[in-house]
Amino acid sequence: MWRYLPELLAVPVPRYTSYPTAAEFGDAGEDDFLAELDNATGDVSLYVHIPYCHEICWYCGCNTGAANRQKRLAAYLEALTAEIAHVGHLLPRSARVRHIAFGGGSPNAIAPHEFVRLVNTLTVAFSLADPTLSVELDPRSLTEPWREVLAHVGVTRASLGVQTFDPAIQQAIGRVQPIELIERAVDMLRDAGVTSLNFDLMYGLPGQDLDTLHSTLDQAARMGADRIALFGLAHLPAMFPRQRRIDCSTLPGAFERFRMMEEGHDRLLDLGYQPVGFDHFALPGDPLARAALSGHLHRNFQGFTDDAAPVTIGLGASAISNFPRGIFQNEKNAGAYRELIAAGRQPTARGVARDANDQKRRAVITGILCQGRAAVDEDMLRSASPRLADFFAEGLCTLIDGELVLAPDALPYARGIAACFDRHRADSQRNFSNAV
Ligand code: SF4
Repeated sequence: MWRYLPELLAVPVPRYTSYPTAAEFGDAGEDDFLAELDNATGDVSLYVHIPYCHEICWYCGCNTGAANRQKRLAAYLEALTAEIAHVGHLLPRSARVRHIAFGGGSPNAIAPHEFVRLVNTLTVAFSLADPTLSVELDPRSLTEPWREVLAHVGVTRASLGVQTFDPAIQQAIGRVQPIELIERAVDMLRDAGVTSLNFDLMYGLPGQDLDTLHSTLDQAARMGADRIALFGLAHLPAMFPRQRRIDCSTLPGAFERFRMMEEGHDRLLDLGYQPVGFDHFALPGDPLARAALSGHLHRNFQGFTDDAAPVTIGLGASAISNFPRGIFQNEKNAGAYRELIAAGRQPTARGVARDANDQKRRAVITGILCQGRAAVDEDMLRSASPRLADFFAEGLCTLIDGELVLAPDALPYARGIAACFDRHRADSQRNFSNAV
């Protein structure tokens, strides 16, 4: 049983899908991005962002808008196609693309033939090395033509936004999708050749309790999800005004959320899943479970991953590119993004350089979150010690032969322990969600 230590969970902490985090992004721009691109070699991954959805869910914290105007969608795709061609032209041919991920928003907010056109553009622009294709999908707009297209282009990994199967909770978060609709989506994806299927699920939802959480997890397992990401709802209505439609009086409290995280974890292990990092689970045999077991798990902007590429190039509005020495984000606003592309500019809007010290800290933070252990030198330990003291005192981590090792019950505290090595978090903890 996990120990509930509210004082160690009280401070909001980053999810560390990058280090430094997006909160540190500043002036690094177009020229810095182009210099990193010019140096890229070896394995590269691509992330293509579609910032539109047919229906906007009330809890959503993503950069997405309504896909209700065809002209706007067409203009966005035209800009995205131009960016793909431009970046592909600049990337050295020695860089080989092994993963392409489509995310959003909902990539299936665009027409299926537009998706094929995007894949064709990527094929022409980049040096592809039989890449693994993955797509985030909204089951509410997954149609038969989409099934055909996914099969045609060879998508093998898909992620469905499910969140909960409970009809009353679906109403409360503005995302109604009957169980039959999800079953149909699963059948279509399997038929299309998807071999690794993820369900995004949530705890901490309005009106949710342990029983409704359990039945959602059981249902997800019955449907054969290969992977499950179980996230806590990040309710930040000041940052995301659309969340104001959620009735806060029905949200579970901090202790209930903690128990949901624990019970969810235990239930999924009982159902045969292996834990992956602090919020992912995968069936044995899935590439993500294999990566976790073999110590080859990584973390990027999409969460825990088996993708080991040192470079990810983000394409589209708000997409983030990651290089060993820097992180860059494209202009977030889709209209401003289109204008930059139309002016022949690279749409990089902000970013942060990663120096040798950042690289060391990044290795420690990633090790803690992905493997539950990380080698730490004296300097690193000294700078983290004041904040680490309480975690040591509670026995949540210990030092063994120069490695910081997390205790088996330290999972809910992993982000808090990792944050002790974040040199930017000493003063400000704002703009992050709770650790649980
Ligand atoms: S489908 Fe996903 S990205 Fe779109 S509004 Fe809902 S949660 Fe946000």
